[in-house]
Amino acid sequence: MARLEAIAADLTRRYGYRPIETPLFEQVAVFERGIGEVTDVVEKELFRLAPRSEEKEAWALRPEPTAGIARAYVQHGMQTLPQPVKLTMVGPMFRYDRPQAGRYRQFWQFDVEAIGDAGPAIDAEIIELANRFYTEAGVPGIDLRLNSIGDPQCRPAYIAELTAYYRDHVADLPPLERARLERNPLRLLDSKEPRMAVINVEAPKITDHLCTACADHFDGVRAHLDALGVAYTLAPELVRGLDYYTRTTFEIFPAGETGQQAAIGGGGRYDGLVELLGGHPTPGIGFGLGLDRVLLVTRLAEGAADETAPLAVVVSADPAATADRLVVATELRAAGLRARADLSTRKLGRQLEAASRDGAHFAVILGADAAGGTQLKDLKAGTQRVVAAGDLVKELERAARTHHHGLGEAAKR
Ligand code: AMP
Repeated sequence: MARLEAIAADLTRRYGYRPIETPLFEQVAVFERGIGEVTDVVEKELFRLAPRSEEKEAWALRPEPTAGIARAYVQHGMQTLPQPVKLTMVGPMFRYDRPQAGRYRQFWQFDVEAIGDAGPAIDAEIIELANRFYTEAGVPGIDLRLNSIGDPQCRPAYIAELTAYYRDHVADLPPLERARLERNPLRLLDSKEPRMAVINVEAPKITDHLCTACADHFDGVRAHLDALGVAYTLAPELVRGLDYYTRTTFEIFPAGETGQQAAIGGGGRYDGLVELLGGHPTPGIGFGLGLDRVLLVTRLAEGAADETAPLAVVVSADPAATADRLVVATELRAAGLRARADLSTRKLGRQLEAASRDGAHFAVILGADAAGGTQLKDLKAGTQRVVAAGDLVKELERAARTHHHGLGEAAKR
């Protein structure tokens, strides 16, 4: 996770995003107004906090970051700053759901928001940023699915047509979908019910109903993505689970997987959100990438690489010499190296075994010979040689810089 956070921090700095922290909980109204009342996230998945008796407001743990960030934008007068305001956050989100593989009640998102730019160029810039994050994180391949869901000009006519279509199939609709049909028929398009897949294949497509302004915007997004060489698949069924989206929506899957459960990120434009939360009409776009799922995918790809394994473990022939080992390990750590001392009083052989099991690349063996010299043993290569105490830091630094951490030719002979 720390590795992914470091990649996110470095990328967002390069792309000009500033870190923001919002509270882990907000008034429920922020989510109801922003995300929408007839959505999975608010209806079923909101982690509501039990109110104290003197409390008039209802509170909930944040299920996603965008509503809270837009609330902060309005509350702290960020519309007076140069636009767009580009903000980023990595942090935990909470959704009340049945936990299972890749679906947790607390999960981490890397989030990016650009508020105050109507696009379409920034839409492509943000999508390319998501793309680059996956590449740098080591995700072996992604499928980027792209759609436009129109705006308040063109969506009502489309929704009327979609509702009429579903009414014709009402007998086949699962209970929740039937209940939602009249209140929010768009939700039926991204329903997780397997039965809906068949019905949705024939459903009218939003991209056939875009007004000229939305169609031009969508063309613009695609032209900019093409110019950047970012590959995408058009996905007319992709409406995303949250109400605040307008125009551009996208979702990212590991290559070859499409199940909703597998999505490793998603985002879109939310030109009405700031106004819904009490601000001036302000366009915005952002994404949230699921870091837990990115970790799962990259672990599968490269085998579990342990980022915390020590470069060196300090061991010694005298089991009781814990102070000597601790002193040397402390010196190595002060010099910036990942080092550990064996603090037990077991025999040298056992100390070396433990160091190997820990994934250490080197063992620094104190008092290994009659002269009391220090040996540097490469536990991966099985080579060993004497180093002067004063050269230890330099030797390990050199080894840490080289990819394979090797001791060099001299040690192999
Ligand atoms: P969403 O806004 O629901 O599309 O969420 C954005 C991303 O967060 C998804 O693409 C997932 O990668 C991740 N995500 C959403 N819900 C969960 C969850 N319950 N557990 C783990 N990751 C999640």
